[in-house]
Amino acid sequence: MSEYVSTRDLHEQVSGYSDVLLQGLAPDGGLYMPVDFPTFSTAELQRMVDKPYPELFVEVKKGFIGEDIPLVDQQGFADRAFDHERFPFVVGGNYVPVHEISTNFYIQELSHGPTAAFKDMAMQPLGQELAHVLEVRDQNWLALGATSGDTGPAAEAMVKGQERLALIMLSPREGMSEFQKAQMALLSGGNVFNLSIDAGFRECQDIVKQLKREPEFAHLGAVNSINWARVASQIPYWVSAYLQVVPNIGDPVDFVVPTGNFGNILAGYMARRMGLPIRRLIAATNENTVMHEVIQTGRYAPRQEHLITSSPSMDISEASNFERLVYDLFEQNPEAVLEYMAELKIAGEAQFEEFGLPRTALHELGFDSGSSTHADRLDSIKWVHEQSGRAIDPHTADAVTVARRKAVREVPIVALSTAKPVKFESTIAEAGVPVPARELRFVGIEEDAKEIDGFVELPNSSSAVGEFILKNVDLAA
Ligand SMILES: *Cc1c(COP(=O)(O)O)cnc(C)c1O
Repeated sequence: MSEYVSTRDLHEQVSGYSDVLLQGLAPDGGLYMPVDFPTFSTAELQRMVDKPYPELFVEVKKGFIGEDIPLVDQQGFADRAFDHERFPFVVGGNYVPVHEISTNFYIQELSHGPTAAFKDMAMQPLGQELAHVLEVRDQNWLALGATSGDTGPAAEAMVKGQERLALIMLSPREGMSEFQKAQMALLSGGNVFNLSIDAGFRECQDIVKQLKREPEFAHLGAVNSINWARVASQIPYWVSAYLQVVPNIGDPVDFVVPTGNFGNILAGYMARRMGLPIRRLIAATNENTVMHEVIQTGRYAPRQEHLITSSPSMDISEASNFERLVYDLFEQNPEAVLEYMAELKIAGEAQFEEFGLPRTALHELGFDSGSSTHADRLDSIKWVHEQSGRAIDPHTADAVTVARRKAVREVPIVALSTAKPVKFESTIAEAGVPVPARELRFVGIEEDAKEIDGFVELPNSSSAVGEFILKNVDLAA
Protein backbone atom coordinates (compact mmCIF):
# COMPACT_ATOMS: atom_id res chain seq x y z
CA MET A 1 0.00 0.00 0.00
CA SER A 2 0.96 3.63 -0.68
CA GLU A 3 3.37 3.11 -3.52
CA TYR A 4 3.50 5.62 -6.33
CA VAL A 5 4.38 5.45 -10.02
CA SER A 6 4.94 8.22 -12.54
CA THR A 7 2.33 8.56 -15.29
CA ARG A 8 5.21 8.44 -17.82
CA ASP A 9 7.44 5.72 -16.40
CA LEU A 10 7.56 2.65 -18.65
CA HIS A 11 9.52 0.74 -16.00
CA GLU A 12 6.94 1.53 -13.34
CA GLN A 13 9.44 2.08 -10.55
CA VAL A 14 7.73 2.77 -7.27
CA SER A 15 8.33 5.57 -4.77
CA GLY A 16 6.99 6.09 -1.27
CA TYR A 17 4.87 8.96 0.02
CA SER A 18 7.78 10.94 1.47
CA ASP A 19 9.63 10.99 -1.86
CA VAL A 20 6.49 12.07 -3.66
CA LEU A 21 5.94 14.79 -1.08
CA LEU A 22 9.45 16.20 -1.43
CA GLN A 23 9.76 15.84 -5.22
CA GLY A 24 6.48 17.11 -6.63
CA LEU A 25 7.03 16.29 -10.29
CA ALA A 26 8.55 12.88 -11.09
CA PRO A 27 12.10 12.96 -12.58
CA ASP A 28 10.75 11.87 -15.99
CA GLY A 29 8.37 14.85 -16.08
CA GLY A 30 5.31 12.75 -15.26
CA LEU A 31 2.95 13.04 -12.31
CA TYR A 32 2.87 10.60 -9.43
CA MET A 33 -0.17 8.39 -9.00
CA PRO A 34 -0.86 5.83 -6.29
CA VAL A 35 -0.61 2.20 -7.40
CA ASP A 36 -3.50 1.09 -5.18
CA PHE A 37 -6.44 2.98 -3.77
CA PRO A 38 -7.67 2.58 -0.26
CA THR A 39 -11.46 2.10 -0.32
CA PHE A 40 -14.32 2.76 2.11
CA SER A 41 -17.22 0.48 2.86
CA THR A 42 -20.61 1.91 3.82
CA ALA A 43 -19.94 0.84 7.41
CA GLU A 44 -16.62 2.68 7.44
CA LEU A 45 -18.25 5.82 6.08
CA GLN A 46 -20.96 5.49 8.71
CA ARG A 47 -18.33 5.42 11.45
CA MET A 48 -16.86 8.68 10.14
CA VAL A 49 -20.12 10.62 10.46
CA ASP A 50 -19.47 12.05 13.91
CA LYS A 51 -15.70 12.26 13.75
CA PRO A 52 -14.09 15.67 14.25
CA TYR A 53 -12.41 16.84 11.04
CA PRO A 54 -8.78 16.20 12.11
CA GLU A 55 -9.67 12.56 12.84
CA LEU A 56 -11.63 12.13 9.64
CA PHE A 57 -8.68 13.67 7.81
CA VAL A 58 -6.30 10.99 9.07
CA GLU A 59 -8.83 8.21 8.53
CA VAL A 60 -9.18 9.16 4.86
CA LYS A 61 -5.57 10.07 4.14
CA LYS A 62 -3.60 7.43 6.04
CA GLY A 63 -3.91 4.89 3.21
CA PHE A 64 -1.89 7.24 0.99
CA ILE A 65 0.91 7.66 3.52
CA GLY A 66 1.29 4.12 4.78
CA GLU A 67 4.32 3.39 6.96
CA ASP A 68 6.15 6.53 5.88
CA ILE A 69 4.82 8.55 8.82
CA PRO A 70 3.72 6.83 12.05
CA LEU A 71 -0.04 7.08 12.59
CA VAL A 72 0.26 8.92 15.91
CA ASP A 73 2.35 11.56 14.19
CA GLN A 74 -0.16 11.84 11.35
CA GLN A 75 -2.84 12.55 13.94
CA GLY A 76 -0.63 15.05 15.75
CA PHE A 77 0.00 16.93 12.49
CA ALA A 78 -3.69 17.04 11.61
CA ASP A 79 -4.57 18.27 15.13
CA ARG A 80 -2.03 21.05 14.80
CA ALA A 81 -2.97 21.94 11.21
CA PHE A 82 -6.65 22.29 12.05
CA ASP A 83 -6.86 24.21 15.28
CA HIS A 84 -8.43 27.36 16.62
CA GLU A 85 -5.32 29.48 16.17
CA ARG A 86 -5.16 28.75 12.45
CA PHE A 87 -8.93 28.71 11.93
CA PRO A 88 -10.18 31.39 14.35
CA PHE A 89 -13.52 31.87 12.61
CA VAL A 90 -14.64 28.25 12.84
CA VAL A 91 -17.64 27.71 15.06
CA GLY A 92 -18.45 24.43 16.78
CA GLY A 93 -15.29 22.70 15.59
CA ASN A 94 -16.48 22.09 12.02
CA TYR A 95 -13.57 23.19 9.84
CA VAL A 96 -15.40 22.43 6.57
CA PRO A 97 -19.05 23.38 7.23
CA VAL A 98 -21.81 22.88 4.69
CA HIS A 99 -24.74 25.33 4.52
CA GLU A 100 -28.03 24.77 2.73
CA ILE A 101 -28.83 27.98 0.87
CA SER A 102 -31.85 26.74 -1.04
CA THR A 103 -33.63 23.37 -1.08
CA ASN A 104 -31.02 20.63 -1.59
CA PHE A 105 -28.52 23.28 -2.74
CA TYR A 106 -25.45 23.50 -0.51
CA ILE A 107 -22.25 25.47 -0.22
CA GLN A 108 -19.23 23.99 1.55
CA GLU A 109 -16.90 26.54 3.13
CA LEU A 110 -13.26 25.58 2.74
CA SER A 111 -11.58 28.91 3.36
CA HIS A 112 -11.45 29.43 7.11
CA GLY A 113 -7.68 28.84 7.24
CA PRO A 114 -4.83 31.33 7.71
CA THR A 115 -4.96 32.84 4.18
CA ALA A 116 -8.71 32.69 3.48
CA ALA A 117 -8.47 30.30 0.52
CA PHE A 118 -9.13 26.55 0.38
CA LYS A 119 -5.48 25.94 -0.46
CA ASP A 120 -4.76 26.15 3.28
CA MET A 121 -6.71 22.91 3.75
CA ALA A 122 -3.86 21.00 2.09
CA MET A 123 -0.90 23.30 2.75
CA GLN A 124 -1.32 23.39 6.51
CA PRO A 125 -1.01 19.63 7.07
CA LEU A 126 1.67 19.43 4.37
CA GLY A 127 3.86 21.88 6.26
CA GLN A 128 3.77 19.58 9.29
CA GLU A 129 4.50 16.47 7.24
CA LEU A 130 7.37 18.14 5.40
CA ALA A 131 9.02 19.29 8.63
CA HIS A 132 8.78 15.74 9.97
CA VAL A 133 10.17 13.99 6.89
CA LEU A 134 13.02 16.50 6.60
CA GLU A 135 13.91 16.05 10.25
CA VAL A 136 14.02 12.27 9.85
CA ARG A 137 16.19 12.56 6.74
CA ASP A 138 18.25 15.44 8.09
CA GLN A 139 17.57 17.43 4.91
CA ASN A 140 16.37 20.87 3.95
CA TRP A 141 13.76 21.59 1.33
CA LEU A 142 13.60 24.58 -0.95
CA ALA A 143 10.65 25.06 -3.25
CA LEU A 144 10.22 27.29 -6.27
CA GLY A 145 6.74 28.22 -7.41
CA ALA A 146 4.55 30.73 -9.22
CA THR A 147 1.27 32.18 -8.05
CA SER A 148 -1.64 34.08 -9.52
CA GLY A 149 -2.71 35.07 -6.02
CA ASP A 150 -3.87 32.28 -3.70
CA THR A 151 -1.11 29.65 -3.86
CA GLY A 152 1.47 32.25 -2.83
CA PRO A 153 0.03 33.22 0.55
CA ALA A 154 -1.07 29.65 1.39
CA ALA A 155 2.35 28.17 0.59
CA GLU A 156 4.13 30.96 2.45
CA ALA A 157 1.93 30.49 5.50
CA MET A 158 2.95 26.82 5.41
CA VAL A 159 6.70 27.56 5.20
CA LYS A 160 6.90 30.58 7.49
CA GLY A 161 8.93 29.95 10.63
CA GLN A 162 9.81 26.36 9.64
CA GLU A 163 13.53 25.79 9.93
CA ARG A 164 14.10 23.25 7.20
CA LEU A 165 11.78 24.80 4.62
CA ALA A 166 12.27 27.75 2.30
CA LEU A 167 10.24 29.10 -0.58
CA ILE A 168 10.85 31.31 -3.59
CA MET A 169 7.54 32.55 -5.01
CA LEU A 170 7.19 34.31 -8.34
CA SER A 171 4.17 36.51 -8.89
CA PRO A 172 2.98 38.76 -11.73
CA ARG A 173 3.47 42.52 -11.26
CA GLU A 174 -0.21 43.13 -12.17
CA GLY A 175 -3.32 41.08 -11.62
CA MET A 176 -3.32 40.08 -7.95
CA SER A 177 -5.74 41.84 -5.63
CA GLU A 178 -4.31 44.37 -3.16
CA PHE A 179 -5.34 42.01 -0.40
CA GLN A 180 -3.38 39.09 -1.88
CA LYS A 181 -0.31 41.27 -2.43
CA ALA A 182 -0.52 42.45 1.15
CA GLN A 183 -0.79 38.86 2.42
CA MET A 184 2.39 37.91 0.59
CA ALA A 185 4.26 41.06 1.57
CA LEU A 186 3.48 40.44 5.24
CA LEU A 187 4.77 36.86 4.98
CA SER A 188 8.03 37.84 3.25
CA GLY A 189 11.45 37.73 4.87
CA GLY A 190 13.44 34.95 6.51
CA ASN A 191 12.84 31.79 4.52
CA VAL A 192 10.20 33.36 2.22
CA PHE A 193 11.34 35.18 -0.95
CA ASN A 194 8.79 37.10 -3.03
CA LEU A 195 9.83 37.91 -6.57
CA SER A 196 7.58 40.27 -8.47
CA ILE A 197 8.10 39.59 -12.19
CA ASP A 198 7.45 42.22 -14.82
CA ALA A 199 5.08 39.90 -16.72
CA GLY A 200 1.92 37.81 -16.33
CA PHE A 201 1.29 34.57 -14.43
CA ARG A 202 1.96 32.44 -17.49
CA GLU A 203 5.47 33.90 -17.87
CA CYS A 204 6.11 33.31 -14.16
CA GLN A 205 5.19 29.66 -14.65
CA ASP A 206 7.47 29.44 -17.68
CA ILE A 207 10.40 30.79 -15.68
CA VAL A 208 9.81 28.15 -12.98
CA LYS A 209 9.69 25.38 -15.60
CA GLN A 210 12.81 26.65 -17.35
CA LEU A 211 14.84 26.90 -14.16
CA LYS A 212 13.85 23.41 -13.03
CA ARG A 213 15.39 22.07 -16.23
CA GLU A 214 18.76 23.49 -15.16
CA PRO A 215 21.01 21.24 -13.05
CA GLU A 216 21.48 23.78 -10.22
CA PHE A 217 17.75 24.06 -9.67
CA ALA A 218 16.50 20.61 -10.66
CA HIS A 219 16.18 19.51 -7.02
CA LEU A 220 13.83 22.33 -6.02
CA GLY A 221 10.43 21.17 -4.76
CA ALA A 222 6.95 22.16 -5.96
CA VAL A 223 3.99 23.56 -4.05
CA ASN A 224 1.32 23.53 -6.75
CA SER A 225 -1.24 20.79 -7.11
CA ILE A 226 1.00 18.65 -9.32
CA ASN A 227 2.24 17.53 -5.89
CA TRP A 228 0.21 14.43 -5.09
CA ALA A 229 0.43 15.14 -1.36
CA ARG A 230 -1.68 18.23 -1.93
CA VAL A 231 -4.36 16.33 -3.84
CA ALA A 232 -4.46 13.59 -1.18
CA SER A 233 -4.94 16.21 1.55
CA GLN A 234 -8.00 17.55 -0.24
CA ILE A 235 -9.88 14.24 -0.37
CA PRO A 236 -11.03 14.32 3.28
CA TYR A 237 -13.22 17.41 2.95
CA TRP A 238 -15.11 15.80 0.08
CA VAL A 239 -15.89 12.91 2.38
CA SER A 240 -16.95 15.31 5.10
CA ALA A 241 -19.24 17.28 2.74
CA TYR A 242 -20.91 14.08 1.61
CA LEU A 243 -21.51 12.92 5.17
CA GLN A 244 -22.92 16.30 6.19
CA VAL A 245 -25.41 16.35 3.35
CA VAL A 246 -26.95 12.88 2.98
CA PRO A 247 -29.56 11.38 5.27
CA ASN A 248 -28.41 7.87 4.29
CA ILE A 249 -24.96 6.73 3.27
CA GLY A 250 -25.18 5.46 -0.27
CA ASP A 251 -27.45 8.28 -1.48
CA PRO A 252 -26.11 10.10 -4.55
CA VAL A 253 -24.71 13.66 -4.32
CA ASP A 254 -23.58 16.04 -7.07
CA PHE A 255 -20.61 18.35 -6.56
CA VAL A 256 -19.63 21.50 -8.44
CA VAL A 257 -16.07 22.77 -8.20
CA PRO A 258 -14.57 26.11 -9.27
CA THR A 259 -11.84 24.67 -11.45
CA GLY A 260 -8.41 25.91 -12.50
CA ASN A 261 -5.53 23.44 -12.50
CA PHE A 262 -7.95 20.57 -11.79
CA GLY A 263 -6.43 19.73 -8.39
CA ASN A 264 -9.53 20.14 -6.26
CA ILE A 265 -11.90 18.22 -8.53
CA LEU A 266 -9.26 15.53 -8.97
CA ALA A 267 -9.42 15.01 -5.22
CA GLY A 268 -13.18 14.52 -5.64
CA TYR A 269 -12.57 12.03 -8.42
CA MET A 270 -10.23 10.12 -6.12
CA ALA A 271 -12.84 10.19 -3.34
CA ARG A 272 -15.30 8.68 -5.80
CA ARG A 273 -12.81 5.98 -6.78
CA MET A 274 -12.37 5.22 -3.10
CA GLY A 275 -16.07 4.46 -2.85
CA LEU A 276 -17.71 7.77 -1.90
CA PRO A 277 -21.14 7.68 -3.62
CA ILE A 278 -20.67 10.87 -5.66
CA ARG A 279 -22.97 10.97 -8.67
CA ARG A 280 -21.51 13.75 -10.80
CA LEU A 281 -18.28 15.74 -10.50
CA ILE A 282 -19.09 19.00 -12.22
CA ALA A 283 -16.19 21.29 -13.17
CA ALA A 284 -17.11 24.97 -13.28
CA THR A 285 -14.71 27.09 -15.30
CA ASN A 286 -14.68 30.84 -15.86
CA GLU A 287 -14.06 32.26 -19.33
CA ASN A 288 -10.95 30.05 -19.51
CA THR A 289 -12.79 26.98 -20.73
CA VAL A 290 -10.06 24.44 -21.55
CA MET A 291 -11.38 21.83 -19.11
CA HIS A 292 -15.04 22.49 -19.93
CA GLU A 293 -14.24 21.81 -23.56
CA VAL A 294 -12.42 18.53 -23.00
CA ILE A 295 -15.11 17.21 -20.68
CA GLN A 296 -17.85 18.01 -23.20
CA THR A 297 -16.11 17.20 -26.48
CA GLY A 298 -13.02 15.11 -25.81
CA ARG A 299 -10.82 17.78 -27.41
CA TYR A 300 -8.04 19.07 -25.17
CA ALA A 301 -6.55 22.26 -26.55
CA PRO A 302 -4.30 24.28 -24.23
CA ARG A 303 -4.37 27.97 -25.17
CA GLN A 304 -1.42 30.22 -25.91
CA GLU A 305 -2.69 32.75 -23.39
CA HIS A 306 -5.28 32.77 -20.67
CA LEU A 307 -7.90 35.49 -20.29
CA ILE A 308 -7.70 37.69 -17.21
CA THR A 309 -10.96 37.43 -15.32
CA SER A 310 -12.57 38.40 -12.03
CA SER A 311 -12.03 34.84 -10.73
CA PRO A 312 -8.25 35.00 -11.25
CA SER A 313 -7.27 31.79 -9.45
CA MET A 314 -9.00 29.88 -12.24
CA ASP A 315 -7.21 31.75 -15.03
CA ILE A 316 -5.28 28.95 -16.70
CA SER A 317 -4.32 28.11 -20.26
CA GLU A 318 -3.80 24.41 -19.50
CA ALA A 319 -4.60 22.27 -16.47
CA SER A 320 -1.53 20.64 -14.96
CA ASN A 321 -3.45 17.78 -13.37
CA PHE A 322 -5.13 16.71 -16.61
CA GLU A 323 -2.37 14.17 -17.20
CA ARG A 324 -3.57 12.22 -14.16
CA LEU A 325 -6.96 11.77 -15.81
CA VAL A 326 -5.31 10.79 -19.08
CA TYR A 327 -3.42 8.11 -17.17
CA ASP A 328 -6.67 6.65 -15.88
CA LEU A 329 -8.43 6.98 -19.23
CA PHE A 330 -5.66 4.85 -20.73
CA GLU A 331 -5.98 2.33 -17.92
CA GLN A 332 -2.70 3.25 -16.23
CA ASN A 333 -0.65 2.58 -19.33
CA PRO A 334 2.36 4.97 -19.40
CA GLU A 335 3.08 4.14 -23.03
CA ALA A 336 -0.32 5.47 -24.07
CA VAL A 337 0.17 8.56 -21.88
CA LEU A 338 3.50 9.27 -23.58
CA GLU A 339 1.90 8.93 -27.02
CA TYR A 340 -0.93 11.25 -26.06
CA MET A 341 1.41 13.85 -24.55
CA ALA A 342 3.64 13.67 -27.64
CA GLU A 343 0.66 14.32 -29.92
CA LEU A 344 -0.34 17.23 -27.69
CA LYS A 345 3.11 18.71 -27.96
CA ILE A 346 3.33 18.36 -31.74
CA ALA A 347 -0.20 19.35 -32.72
CA GLY A 348 -0.99 21.67 -29.80
CA GLU A 349 -4.18 19.70 -29.12
CA ALA A 350 -5.44 16.14 -28.93
CA GLN A 351 -8.81 14.46 -29.34
CA PHE A 352 -9.89 11.36 -27.46
CA GLU A 353 -11.31 9.83 -30.65
CA GLU A 354 -7.85 9.73 -32.24
CA PHE A 355 -6.82 7.47 -29.38
CA GLY A 356 -9.73 5.07 -29.54
CA LEU A 357 -11.68 6.72 -26.74
CA PRO A 358 -15.23 8.05 -27.01
CA ARG A 359 -15.53 11.86 -27.03
CA THR A 360 -17.50 11.57 -23.80
CA ALA A 361 -14.85 9.44 -22.08
CA LEU A 362 -14.77 11.84 -19.13
CA HIS A 363 -18.55 11.61 -18.65
CA GLU A 364 -18.04 7.91 -18.15
CA LEU A 365 -15.62 8.68 -15.31
CA GLY A 366 -18.36 10.79 -13.65
CA PHE A 367 -17.44 14.26 -14.93
CA ASP A 368 -19.65 17.01 -16.25
CA SER A 369 -18.93 20.71 -16.68
CA GLY A 370 -20.15 24.23 -17.30
CA SER A 371 -18.66 27.70 -17.62
CA SER A 372 -19.44 31.06 -16.15
CA THR A 373 -18.81 34.67 -17.15
CA HIS A 374 -18.25 37.88 -15.21
CA ALA A 375 -21.97 38.75 -15.51
CA ASP A 376 -22.90 35.24 -14.28
CA ARG A 377 -20.62 35.69 -11.27
CA LEU A 378 -22.23 38.96 -10.28
CA ASP A 379 -25.67 37.42 -10.69
CA SER A 380 -24.78 34.39 -8.55
CA ILE A 381 -23.22 36.55 -5.82
CA LYS A 382 -26.52 38.45 -5.70
CA TRP A 383 -28.64 35.29 -5.81
CA VAL A 384 -26.82 33.63 -2.91
CA HIS A 385 -27.15 36.81 -0.89
CA GLU A 386 -30.88 36.99 -1.58
CA GLN A 387 -31.34 33.33 -0.71
CA SER A 388 -29.26 33.20 2.43
CA GLY A 389 -27.86 36.59 3.41
CA ARG A 390 -24.35 35.26 2.75
CA ALA A 391 -21.66 36.86 0.63
CA ILE A 392 -19.59 34.55 -1.60
CA ASP A 393 -16.38 35.22 -3.49
CA PRO A 394 -16.21 35.27 -7.33
CA HIS A 395 -14.67 31.76 -7.63
CA THR A 396 -17.43 30.27 -5.52
CA ALA A 397 -19.83 32.25 -7.70
CA ASP A 398 -18.60 30.38 -10.78
CA ALA A 399 -19.48 27.12 -9.07
CA VAL A 400 -22.87 28.44 -7.97
CA THR A 401 -23.63 29.61 -11.53
CA VAL A 402 -23.00 26.15 -12.92
CA ALA A 403 -24.76 24.44 -10.00
CA ARG A 404 -27.89 26.51 -10.65
CA ARG A 405 -27.94 25.18 -14.21
CA LYS A 406 -27.16 21.58 -13.35
CA ALA A 407 -29.13 21.03 -10.14
CA VAL A 408 -31.81 18.37 -10.14
CA ARG A 409 -34.10 18.70 -7.16
CA GLU A 410 -33.98 15.09 -5.92
CA VAL A 411 -30.18 14.98 -5.67
CA PRO A 412 -28.35 17.27 -3.26
CA ILE A 413 -25.81 19.48 -5.00
CA VAL A 414 -22.78 20.93 -3.21
CA ALA A 415 -20.87 23.91 -4.58
CA LEU A 416 -17.39 24.11 -3.07
CA SER A 417 -16.49 27.55 -1.77
CA THR A 418 -12.79 28.12 -2.34
CA ALA A 419 -12.10 31.64 -1.01
CA LYS A 420 -13.49 34.17 1.41
CA PRO A 421 -15.14 37.27 -0.03
CA VAL A 422 -12.61 39.44 1.84
CA LYS A 423 -10.04 38.58 -0.85
CA PHE A 424 -12.21 40.07 -3.60
CA GLU A 425 -14.25 42.79 -1.97
CA SER A 426 -14.51 44.97 -5.08
CA THR A 427 -16.36 42.24 -7.01
CA ILE A 428 -18.81 41.76 -4.13
CA ALA A 429 -19.48 45.49 -4.15
CA GLU A 430 -19.88 45.45 -7.94
CA ALA A 431 -22.58 42.81 -7.54
CA GLY A 432 -24.45 45.23 -5.29
CA VAL A 433 -24.07 43.02 -2.22
CA PRO A 434 -22.94 44.56 1.08
CA VAL A 435 -19.27 43.77 1.71
CA PRO A 436 -19.10 41.79 4.98
CA ALA A 437 -17.18 43.25 7.90
CA ARG A 438 -13.64 41.89 8.02
CA GLU A 439 -12.47 39.44 10.64
CA LEU A 440 -10.06 41.17 12.98
CA ARG A 441 -7.02 39.33 11.56
CA PHE A 442 -7.62 40.88 8.12
CA VAL A 443 -8.40 44.46 9.10
CA GLY A 444 -6.02 46.99 7.54
CA ILE A 445 -3.51 44.51 6.12
CA GLU A 446 -3.13 46.57 2.93
CA GLU A 447 -1.96 49.55 5.03
CA ASP A 448 0.35 47.35 7.13
CA ALA A 449 1.94 45.95 3.98
CA LYS A 450 2.82 49.45 2.73
CA GLU A 451 5.28 49.75 5.61
CA ILE A 452 7.46 46.92 4.33
CA ASP A 453 9.42 46.02 1.25
CA GLY A 454 7.69 42.74 0.55
CA PHE A 455 8.77 42.07 -3.04
CA VAL A 456 11.98 42.06 -5.04
CA GLU A 457 11.20 43.33 -8.54
CA LEU A 458 12.80 41.41 -11.40
CA PRO A 459 12.46 41.47 -15.20
CA ASN A 460 10.76 38.69 -17.18
CA SER A 461 13.92 36.62 -17.49
CA SER A 462 14.78 33.21 -16.12
CA SER A 463 18.47 34.08 -15.95
CA ALA A 464 17.70 37.14 -13.78
CA VAL A 465 15.65 34.96 -11.44
CA GLY A 466 18.32 32.24 -11.46
CA GLU A 467 21.00 34.77 -10.59
CA PHE A 468 18.92 36.19 -7.76
CA ILE A 469 18.47 32.71 -6.30
CA LEU A 470 22.15 31.79 -6.55
CA LYS A 471 23.12 35.04 -4.88
CA ASN A 472 20.54 35.17 -2.10
CA VAL A 473 19.29 31.69 -1.28
CA ASP A 474 21.22 28.84 0.30
CA LEU A 475 20.57 25.96 -2.11
CA ALA A 476 22.05 23.22 0.07
CA ALA A 477 19.63 20.38 0.57
C1 LIG B 1 -6.65 27.59 -6.67
C2 LIG B 1 -8.04 28.06 -6.65
C3 LIG B 1 -9.02 27.48 -7.47
C4 LIG B 1 -8.70 26.40 -8.50
O1 LIG B 1 -8.40 25.16 -7.90
P1 LIG B 1 -7.72 23.99 -8.75
O2 LIG B 1 -7.41 22.95 -7.75
O3 LIG B 1 -6.49 24.58 -9.37
O4 LIG B 1 -8.69 23.56 -9.78
C5 LIG B 1 -10.33 27.91 -7.36
N1 LIG B 1 -10.66 28.89 -6.50
C6 LIG B 1 -9.75 29.49 -5.71
C7 LIG B 1 -10.17 30.59 -4.81
C8 LIG B 1 -8.42 29.09 -5.75
O5 LIG B 1 -7.51 29.69 -4.94
